[in-house]
Amino acid sequence: MIDTYRHKGQRKKLVEVLRKKGISDEKILNAINELPRHFFIPDSALHQYAYEDQAFPIGAGQTISQPYTVAFQTQLLEISKGDKVLEIGTGSGYQAAVLFKLGAKVFSIERQKALFDKTKPLLEKMGIKIKMFFGDGYKGLPAFAPFDKILITAAAPYIPQDLLDQLKPGGILVIPVGEGETQVMKKIIKKADGTFEEKDYGLFKFVPMLKNKAFEK
Ligand code: SAH
Repeated sequence: MIDTYRHKGQRKKLVEVLRKKGISDEKILNAINELPRHFFIPDSALHQYAYEDQAFPIGAGQTISQPYTVAFQTQLLEISKGDKVLEIGTGSGYQAAVLFKLGAKVFSIERQKALFDKTKPLLEKMGIKIKMFFGDGYKGLPAFAPFDKILITAAAPYIPQDLLDQLKPGGILVIPVGEGETQVMKKIIKKADGTFEEKDYGLFKFVPMLKNKAFEK
């Protein structure tokens, strides 16, 4: 795959679109400007649209999130260099790549084997060094906890307790909650005393976070 001048130009325009929609963190805008999003979209017929602010199919009934949503969730996470971040729903790997570009140590879980198998070599080839796990995001990664930040990129029916438990005091969890057409974006801060503070950030549209019997014990 090549990153042409045309793609680069379209990307600059996308960054301006995101800025107008309210994304103000220059580091995030810079990461989006540097990452060739079309590399993360398997159907090359869609590459000409890759820099529209839209979600696209990535196979296995899943989608690469809309760039605005990626930027918005990332902004809520307040990433600092070196943050240990757990992402639920690797999908195309694009969101994980944005977090990596911001200097985070990224751990990402995907429950669909087909996507896991496709995204792992793609990220390796692109030099995006993250730890990828095939498994159930509801359980998180107890062996690697605690995390500074946790990001859920699928529509969750509720906030999984296991994920709250795996957050450091002072940590932030960002999760779209709801089972209907749209979900409420929630930012949850774990305070030093272990209690939680919750804030809502409007409605978004995600594919559902699913349970998988294969991972249940
Ligand atoms: N962050 C992704 C968004 C992909 S869409 C990107 O940037 O492309 C959400 C992803 O969550 C899908 O790939 C879906 O398979 C995955 N998913 C759904 N339920 C899950 C679960 N319980 N555990 C882990 N991943 C899950």
